[in-house]
Amino acid sequence: MTQPALRLLSLGAGVQSTTLALLSAAGDLPKLDGAIFADTGWEPAAVYRHLDRLEREILQPAGIRLYRVAAGNIRDDALDPAHRFASMPLFIRNPDGGDGMTRRQCTSEYKLKPIKRQARQLLGYPHPKPVPRGLYAEQWIGISRDEIGRAKDSGIQYLRSSFPLLDLTDAADGREGWTRDDCLRYLRANGWETTPKSACIGCPFHGNAQWRRLRDEQPGEWADAVEFDRAIRAGNARGNALGKPLLGEAYLHRSRKPLDQAPIDRVTAHEWAQRQTDVFGQVADAELEDGDPDGCSPWSCRSGRAAA
Ligand code: SF4
Repeated sequence: MTQPALRLLSLGAGVQSTTLALLSAAGDLPKLDGAIFADTGWEPAAVYRHLDRLEREILQPAGIRLYRVAAGNIRDDALDPAHRFASMPLFIRNPDGGDGMTRRQCTSEYKLKPIKRQARQLLGYPHPKPVPRGLYAEQWIGISRDEIGRAKDSGIQYLRSSFPLLDLTDAADGREGWTRDDCLRYLRANGWETTPKSACIGCPFHGNAQWRRLRDEQPGEWADAVEFDRAIRAGNARGNALGKPLLGEAYLHRSRKPLDQAPIDRVTAHEWAQRQTDVFGQVADAELEDGDPDGCSPWSCRSGRAAA
């Protein structure tokens, strides 16, 4: 195989991709040529703060440029009758009382598309210029050993996926591949224990624990999600403006109840099980999810687990 022209990090800004950024900057992994963060415009303030700090304290000093790319604002677009809406995975109560779900197009539209666009630009072949055969960027994706099933190739010849965490040796058991706990340990040891979960404020794939945290710790963002939940009850604005209203009602919470009335205080068996097994002997907030611990990852969206 030919050598990559560029080495790029797909920076979701969660635990695994932040670990990769630190490892590269420290020289423990090869030097990156850039990191790409796809911004949906509706991330929690903590994620933007984390990203700013990562850029300032790690990426810039190491000479790794951060590219913040976007394809719009997912929240505004959903409520704008003049804008085509790439659907979020909303929970639907059908007119006959049955349950449904809208297709998830948002990850592709708001994350993958702008990342691909940026990668092509960096390679020197922006759309529609064809990228010459054999020219490609190696794209690092933060997949840890415990989620190896999500390590899939992008299927794009100019952007080949690579999973460096899987090639590292786990110091605890000598096995090949770092786990998410290895990443957490590494982040704590380097002063990055506050790495947040990256996902849209109102992502329907949030677990109950994440909704609770939003309500209890970020009342402004919670109010924003509650308002959005109300506003999309009849579907997205564009569909209604075009005379194609949603048949049924849309909700952000899987109970298909208004968010501020949804049963988010119910602690699931899965959450209790994770309280028992926390490797640090303490209750780690990120582990108490009924959903996914890391949020929306562009190339291997883990968020699907919660809706399964
Ligand atoms: S976080 Fe949720 S709503 Fe946002 S892009 Fe990912 S799947 Fe879609």
